[in-house]
Amino acid sequence: MKNGECKGCSATVRLSQEEIDEIFGQTLKVKNIKLATQEEYNRRLEICKKCQYLDYGTTCRLCGCLVQVKAKLAGARCPYPYQPKW
Ligand code: SF4
Repeated sequence: MKNGECKGCSATVRLSQEEIDEIFGQTLKVKNIKLATQEEYNRRLEICKKCQYLDYGTTCRLCGCLVQVKAKLAGARCPYPYQPKW
């Protein structure tokens, strides 16, 4: 397994900002999705950046989500055990 590849599928797990933006755009196309405010989004990402469970600067090790996408969803919650960080 090369460095940066996923153990399960051998695809890369490192995403560029452009790839994240593309996924983000696809997420926003879904109707009736309630989004977090920009202030709340920034607050969440700042918390994730300091978290020991953030891998590659993009992926939460606990839920496997891209935090740059998940944090934008108003109803999403941090999966940190017993005490979600946001
Ligand atoms: S556990 Fe919570 S704070 Fe940590 S990376 Fe995952 S979503 Fe972010």
